Amino acid sequence: MDNNQPFSEISYKDLMFMKAPTISCTHGFSTRLGGISTGELESLNLGENRGDSEENVRENYRLFLEALGIPQQELCFTKQVHGSEVKIVTGEDRRGLFTPFLYEADGIVTRERALPLICFTADCVPVLLCDNKAGVIAAIHCGWRSTVSDILGVAIEKMQLLGADVKNIGAAIGPSIDMCCYETGPEVPRAIESLLDFDTNGCFFPLGTDDKFMVDLKETNRRRLISLGLSAENISVSDECTFCNNDRYWSHRFTKGARGSQAALIMLDN
Ligand SMILES: [Zn+2]
Repeated sequence: MDNNQPFSEISYKDLMFMKAPTISCTHGFSTRLGGISTGELESLNLGENRGDSEENVRENYRLFLEALGIPQQELCFTKQVHGSEVKIVTGEDRRGLFTPFLYEADGIVTRERALPLICFTADCVPVLLCDNKAGVIAAIHCGWRSTVSDILGVAIEKMQLLGADVKNIGAAIGPSIDMCCYETGPEVPRAIESLLDFDTNGCFFPLGTDDKFMVDLKETNRRRLISLGLSAENISVSDECTFCNNDRYWSHRFTKGARGSQAALIMLDN
């Protein structure tokens, strides 16, 4: 991959998270390390709906925010449904943990400062976007369905509505399941061909049996960002596969669903 600068690993007490070189505001991709949950949710589970206790999840959030240097506060997150809805949010859209979700959306965009945006993953691709000059950021949940529904196209359009310029947008494509471990049926590569107008070299390859394919969703999303006008040097891609590194990350496929959730967080600094 051209010009890809590596993510860096940040340790804070027992907690560890990843930062991307192309995002110039406060952000982090959580790992499963450094929280207080136990059993199959050991230890930094940031999902409210994984069977964990409210007390554990609240403490895990407190630890994650402390590691990122963010004061304790309500955050902005949505009920993710593998669609292409992207919502522009303000401070009014903050939500307390263990309260009803305000809406369903797989992407959120804001120009409000000190408002942390979150997206959850455990194999799907978390994408963070930042135009620090215009002061516009986004957190996008890119599973394959959202990816091929062009959620990134929708997100970039909404960022532009708020004043962002694609030439100034930095993007980070976070830890997620890689081509090594992500087998699909033919419907995924067919939909990627449609999204990328057949410019799909490196995005998938056929296994040669049973019409199965190995798919690279990170590369697919990187290519889409470039076709939307972002510069390749402004996009960094995590080299970690959540399935291969299941001791460091939650992987839905590896655990067959018995897992916690990672969070990718981004916030415009004051
Ligand atoms: Zn892998």
